[in-house]
Amino acid sequence: MITRTLENIAAMCAGKPAAVEAMNTTLTGVVTDSRKITPGCLFVPLSGDKFDGHHYAAAALAAGAGATLWQRDKGPVPEGGGVIIVEDTLEALQKLSAAYLKEVAPQVVAVTGSNGKTTTKDIIMSLLEVQFKVHKTAGNFNNHIGLPLTILSMAEDTEIAVLEMGMSSRGEIALLASLAEPDVAVITNVGESHLLQLGSRKEIARAKLEIAEGLKPGGLLIYNGDEPLLTEVMQESTFKAPEGMRTFRFGLNEDNDDYPTGMMSHTGGMTFTSSRHKEHAFTLPLPGQHNVVNALAALAVARHFGVTEQNMKEGLSRLKLTGMRIEVIRTSSGLTLLNDAYNASPSSMKAAIDVLQSMKCSGNKIAVLGDMLELGPEEVEFHQEIGYYLDPSLTDFVCTYGPLSVHIAKAAEEKFGKECVKAFTDKAELTAVLLEKCSAKDIVLFKGSRGMKLEEVLQSLNKDI
Ligand code: ATP
Ligand code: MG
Repeated sequence: MITRTLENIAAMCAGKPAAVEAMNTTLTGVVTDSRKITPGCLFVPLSGDKFDGHHYAAAALAAGAGATLWQRDKGPVPEGGGVIIVEDTLEALQKLSAAYLKEVAPQVVAVTGSNGKTTTKDIIMSLLEVQFKVHKTAGNFNNHIGLPLTILSMAEDTEIAVLEMGMSSRGEIALLASLAEPDVAVITNVGESHLLQLGSRKEIARAKLEIAEGLKPGGLLIYNGDEPLLTEVMQESTFKAPEGMRTFRFGLNEDNDDYPTGMMSHTGGMTFTSSRHKEHAFTLPLPGQHNVVNALAALAVARHFGVTEQNMKEGLSRLKLTGMRIEVIRTSSGLTLLNDAYNASPSSMKAAIDVLQSMKCSGNKIAVLGDMLELGPEEVEFHQEIGYYLDPSLTDFVCTYGPLSVHIAKAAEEKFGKECVKAFTDKAELTAVLLEKCSAKDIVLFKGSRGMKLEEVLQSLNKDI
């Protein structure tokens, strides 16, 4: 993590030390939450709608912070430690991270997309760390605050930084890319998340492609070639590719630069070969065809950095994912729970249903599906589409939870019949029905938007069956 004198840090974030005495203080690490102060850190007070970190700056110094940033218009500076005065604390945090990144100078891989960013980032990390010293975004720290904090927590000897970039409107990825100046950018896909804010899938594609516009000259864009909108937007006159940009397309279709040539699903995950690696069967310890596609993107990054096929295999076998992305949990009695309750959009819900439907099972397969939020005016149609997507020959029972997913249930009923579909608006009732219905050999999938907190239902099953 960043370790610099107060004087250096002030210069890096275009700030001014409030007093000369503290100039030589060494600061280690950057913290924005005053409850998480570490000895000698730099505290960065941020102002939000509901809170203003400046109220906690004095407490942060008292708790051991070596210094605090202080926004000029926030009144008299706090006492009790070093202070760096800046015009805007958020901008200063971003500037500091960009300056630190330039000093450490690792190669930068940036990952965006509607679904699969964290998963793909985790796979890239596993592949690269067999040969390199890699730093990656912790968890989901992928926005205008999380990205700078990720960069500032990087070790000085980092060779490659793998950074996740999230967004909910136009311009956000452009800002993140301008801070990180990636050498390699990955776009996993274009889905429907944030359709409410952006209005159309094409506008979502434009927002994702801001990552390509932010590449260094000669940078490499690795993108999902199954998504025609990405190619269309790149042909628009408003799209400004950096000089010498190179591209690589991955996906299921055979016109991509890399596509799967064989895939087999098994209890240990997926084994696949691809057009680039016909002689090498890779085993990915994750279920689902969508994860093979994520792996193809990650393999393209690894090839760019010269990772050998042997090390690719080794890296995949060591993969550790950030929690709640299709975690397969076996309860003590043998019931299988698929925990994909972290979040949901139509494409990720279909991907999760594919996983459930492709699994071998001697009991019943049950889909527990919650509302997908923030989809805009077509939210009802998106939910109906999921109902039609479910296949009664591959799924035995469908439970929905929430007012929007009633439309999943209604559409599913047309093929499944009323007795195999049940819509709930009460979580306790849903839990009680599942506790009664599920038995040892069953597989139960949990999928819904973050706000639906379906993991609460899963936890009851995990405890009691
Ligand atoms: P967030 O926007 O919350 O950061 P993310 O893009 O990082 O999400 P992940 O956390 O990797 O995505 O996965 C989120 C969900 O999307 C998971 O439920 C996962 O199963 C599903 N998913 C992952 N990859 C794909 C894909 N390529 N296509 C469709 N769904 C996917
Ligand atoms: Mg993520």
